[in-house]
Formats: sequence, C-alpha cells, structure tokens
Amino acid sequence: MLDINNKLQEIKDNNLYREIRYLSKPQDKITVIDGKKVLLMSSNNYLGLCNNNKVKQASIDAINKYGLGSGGSRLTTGSYDLHKELEEKIAKFKNCEGALIFNNGYMANLGVISAICDEEYYIFSDELNHASIIDGCKLSKGKIVIYKHNDVNDLKEKVKANKFKKGIIVTDSVFSMDGDIANIPEIVKIAKEYNLLTLVDDAHATGVIGKLGKGSSEYFNCDIDITVGTLSKAIGSEGGFVCGNKNVIDFLKNRSRSFIFSTALSPVVISGAISSFDIIQNDNSLILKLQNNIEYLCRGLRLIGYEVDSKSPIIPIMIGEEDKALKFSKSLLDEGIYIPAIRYPTVKKGYAILRITVMATHDYEDLDFVINKINEVKNKTM
Ligand code: PMP
Repeated sequence: MLDINNKLQEIKDNNLYREIRYLSKPQDKITVIDGKKVLLMSSNNYLGLCNNNKVKQASIDAINKYGLGSGGSRLTTGSYDLHKELEEKIAKFKNCEGALIFNNGYMANLGVISAICDEEYYIFSDELNHASIIDGCKLSKGKIVIYKHNDVNDLKEKVKANKFKKGIIVTDSVFSMDGDIANIPEIVKIAKEYNLLTLVDDAHATGVIGKLGKGSSEYFNCDIDITVGTLSKAIGSEGGFVCGNKNVIDFLKNRSRSFIFSTALSPVVISGAISSFDIIQNDNSLILKLQNNIEYLCRGLRLIGYEVDSKSPIIPIMIGEEDKALKFSKSLLDEGIYIPAIRYPTVKKGYAILRITVMATHDYEDLDFVINKINEVKNKTM
C-alpha cells in the first residue's frame, strides 16, 4: 500500500488531485453541483437533448416495453429491434452503408482500432488524439507513429519516411480539449496518395458541426473510410458507434472484442438516442442555435482579451499553472458558474486550461454573464 499512498500524495502535491463533483438536478444549463445552484458551462450535452421531453418519453416507453437491462451481449441475446433501428438511423445520418453500436465511444475506439490493425499496420496518430484512440492503438498490434498536432506536413513526412504494407491515419475531428478541428481534407488527400485508411473520431462533431450536424464529412464535404462517434454528447444519451461500409461493419461484428464481449446497451438509452436523431434530422434549429452561441461567446471572450476562435462548442482558455487554473475555476464557482480546470493527464503538465463548453440551451444573457464574470475574476486573480 505504501507505493499507492506515495503516488497519491505526489498527485496532491502537484495540484493534480481530482475530486468527483455530484449533480443533483438534470444536466441542464442551470443545475445543482455539490448542493450549489450553478450555470453549467462544462457539459457535453451540447443540444440539451439529455433533458428533452420527447427523448425522456421515448426512454420511459422503452423501459415499459422492454424492461431495464439488455440481458446479453449483442451476438447472444442482447440485440433488440431497437438496436437495429438505431444502427440504421446512424448509418443514414452519416451517409454510410452501415453502423455498429458499442457501449460507449471509448469502447468503440478500442474495438475498431484493435480489430483492424494487425502487425502489418502502421498507425499514424495525432499527438492530441483522445485517450480512447491512444489506448486502442496500444491494444492493437500495429506500429504507432505519432505526428504533431494537426500538422499535415509532419504527417506527410512521417508517412513518406516509413515503409509499410498497410496503414491507417487516425484523428479526432473536433479535439476534445482544444476544440479545434483537424484538417481532414488534407488528411484524406494524403491517405489517398499513400493508400492508407482514414479513421475519424466524430465524438464532439456529431450533432455539432455542419449545417445539419452530420459531423466532419458534411463540414468538409469529404469521404472518410471509418467514422467513430458517441451518443453521450450532442445526442444526449449513452453509447458509441462506428460507421463505414458494409464489410467494415460485418468484420467488426466478428472481430471487435469490445463489441463481442460486453453486454449490449439498455433499450432505455437506445430508444432515447433514436428519438434524439429523429429530432435533429427533422429540424436543425438546435444545431444552428448552438453554432450561433459558439460565435457569440467567442466574440465576447475576444473583447475581454482572450484569443479564441472556436468552431466547436469547446472553448479553452489557456491558464498554464495548475494552481492558477484551480483558483480561477473556484472563483467562478463562487460566482455561480461551473467551468472546470483541466489538468494533467488530460492536458500536458503546466498547460492547464479552463474548458468552457456551450450548449444550445444557453441564451445571450447566460453568455454575457459568463463573459463578465470571467473578466472580473481575471482582473482580480491573475
Ligand atoms: N472520443 C473523444 C474525442 C471523446 O472526447 C470521448 C469522450 N470524452 C470519447 C471518444 C469517448 O466517448 P464516451 O464518453 O462515449 O466513452
């Protein structure tokens, strides 16, 4: 135990200790965290769908019809008609031949990368890719080559410098901490030139970027071989998915271990997700509202001196030192705004940020309040 005690103390000594904060009200713009009413500026519930009445009713209907758990893995007894319906809906939304649901986005990345990348693969992976991509790469038998963040010149150099039989480029589309968007058209070009597959993680892009919220392929109007996504952010539910052509999906059904060896998602979350897709497919007003809020908040933050120009709902404010970021976040919480300080290991040591996220449910008054309070706290504490 001494070793673990020492490691824990080291985390505390470096201002890297994290505590879980508990919500006692829905994940909405105003919620209650650790007993305090706050304006929530940190949720990935970008469209407010996890608290949408139609979505909630769909889940209630599902629990009445099917019960709670799915009772088995997808290939045994855990697949319901609802799973098929959702997979068809996702494939249609993403303009792909097929889709496969996983239990979350993390498992989807783990499952797809480790299933595809055998020992003959070279995996070219952005240095700021999400942990689930990193872990999927480690779990695979492929050789991992990291390229500089969103640097297509470095990517090309590294592709050219390596001799490989099979290769894949793997990237987040919207990066989960910096909120910037990968140069996917150039990545696709390099992939075509050097005969590589492309795998793009649209976790923060689905329901978010593109006029219809379809994610990176709509935003850039380009073809991606395999897209990963999650149902836990803009879709407001839980679960992950992979989209691609029919053979990719069939292969994963047969070889992806996180798909095969885990109990299927509950009909409750599947049904809620179906309802969310119905909402955004019939009407893109929530998506447009979100995109408008992003622009509005970035403009306001620029006026108080922050150089932010995000096209995604993730707007990071660079602080640097961990204790300063913690202090800033705590002062905002005292003012009734929850914006967490993000520290190592989520970002590099000494590069702590305040990670603001915007939702479609915020209005201008909320965003003005945030801008004013950040300005006040900045002037007081920095
Ligand atoms: N990919 C990215 C880019 C993410 O940000 C996340 C979640 N933070 C995931 C995958 C994992 O998704 P999930 O939460 O559904 O496991």
